[in-house]
Amino acid sequence: MPDSLTIELSRIAEAAIEKSDRLAAAAALLTGGELVFVEPPMVSFVAQSSASGGIQVHGELDAHVRLTCRRCLAEYEDTFVVPLEFRLEPGLEPDAEDEGVFALPPDGDVVDIAPIVREELSLAMPEFPECRADCRGLCPSCGVNLNEATCECGSSEPDPRWETLRKLRV
Ligand SMILES: [Zn+2]
Ligand SMILES: [Zn+2]
Repeated sequence: MPDSLTIELSRIAEAAIEKSDRLAAAAALLTGGELVFVEPPMVSFVAQSSASGGIQVHGELDAHVRLTCRRCLAEYEDTFVVPLEFRLEPGLEPDAEDEGVFALPPDGDVVDIAPIVREELSLAMPEFPECRADCRGLCPSCGVNLNEATCECGSSEPDPRWETLRKLRV
């Protein structure tokens, strides 16, 4: 499937470009973990040229992803609607890029926004995915999934987030 999350610079000078397409699933590798799409995310956006010679993009991304619960390690599915709001500015050094501002490539007629969209999706993912707010996690002694069974260990489960904090304090 061709990735058509592109903006043609010769067209945008005339009028705003409005597009919607799916983000190619094969390109969905993210830093710090893997993100599995249940189906390719749908992206809709409107791009307009701005007074500064750049491009203003706004739109929305609908993603249905499969995550792994950090507490019980079970896989679960969740959906996210991520707002897209960013600018592409000409003459911007790559290291001057900031939240919502990206460099407009100096040459070529076509700008592919798929990498930016993937980055925005990555940022929208929870740092601590939980299958549900009251997930009981795994028993720290015997490893049984406490959402599905009880065990005889009788220990009260420590919250792994407090565990991390405790380590930081030592
Ligand atoms: Zn869980
Ligand atoms: Zn146990």
